[in-house]
Amino acid sequence: MSTYPCINIHLDTITQNTQHMVSACRAQGISPAGVTKLACATPDVGQAILNGGIQLLADSRIRNLRKIRHLDAQTLLLRLPALSEISEVVKYADISLNSEMATLDALSAEALKQHKTHQVILMHDLGDLREGGFYEEETLALARKAVALPGIELVGLGSNLACYGGVEPTSDNQNQLIALARQIESTFNITLKYISGASSAGLPLMFSGKLPQGINQLRLGASLLMGIGLNDDPIPETRQDTFDLTAEIVEIKIKPSVPVNSTALDAFGNKPDFIDRGLRRRAICAVGKQDVDISQISPKDPNIIVIGGSSDHLILDINDCEPDYQVGSLIDFDLSYGGVLQCMTSEYITKRFI
Ligand SMILES: *Cc1c(COP(=O)(O)O)cnc(C)c1O
Repeated sequence: MSTYPCINIHLDTITQNTQHMVSACRAQGISPAGVTKLACATPDVGQAILNGGIQLLADSRIRNLRKIRHLDAQTLLLRLPALSEISEVVKYADISLNSEMATLDALSAEALKQHKTHQVILMHDLGDLREGGFYEEETLALARKAVALPGIELVGLGSNLACYGGVEPTSDNQNQLIALARQIESTFNITLKYISGASSAGLPLMFSGKLPQGINQLRLGASLLMGIGLNDDPIPETRQDTFDLTAEIVEIKIKPSVPVNSTALDAFGNKPDFIDRGLRRRAICAVGKQDVDISQISPKDPNIIVIGGSSDHLILDINDCEPDYQVGSLIDFDLSYGGVLQCMTSEYITKRFI
């Protein structure tokens, strides 16, 4: 197996970010869930989050939760369970987010079969229009069902924002969630353990001191793993340099910047554009679009210009660079959220834990 391209995962930095977020949240009465999906729930990353003081790990995919089942943590399934995966859900997730009667029925039957109690957080849609009932009557009806069914326990009410509709967490929408939770508690004479207001997108509201009392869980992924939150803005006192990518140069040549008689489409069916910078020193790195969308990576050397790529090749202009790059030299890249996601998912990219 080739060593490069490789994604470098700085585990200590993830632990530091987590420690910082855990104490900032604790000051506001919030105990965060640690979301592992960006790192495909790699156990080392799960453990780095636990080392930062979190006890509940969350992921969208049941096969990711399965990978971390040996860690000393509670597990939360973020994506609504599919009916076709109910037995794994009950097996590998202690808690799941839910919005459908049929799914609650299936979870109940399976939990009885596995002699378990499966915990359920109901999702309510505060306007972002992804998962959850939009009307309070729907969520109340689901709560009635969840309370009545054997084998499952209604433990919370949650909402997801800033994912599809670009709706920001606000005091108003968070208060609406709290009010509905209180209504469920009084109607069914239960106490909800979790009022799960938002993802990392809720942090600016929390830092501004305007997250209402009563919200007691945020589901944090990007903020722990990359130090970013709403709109990908950096979070104060966290670090963003938790992941980077290293690729190897396999060719260096001087070439014109404009192809000779370009008439065809590129490998992806686009009509390519070229800027004529004259004769330039160029490098090819052994990494390509099959690994990562090249718009999601940026060279750490500010003098490198990314000029294009195909499935397996990345073409760089290194004409104005200080270092004397040679064939075999390594080039480091910063990664966006999407870039990390793709690199962690690609089986062609070596994962190096530091
Ligand atoms: C991905 C996800 C999160 C975490 O979002 P971040 O922006 O990474 O903090 C929280 N809740 C749900 C339902 C998610 O799907």
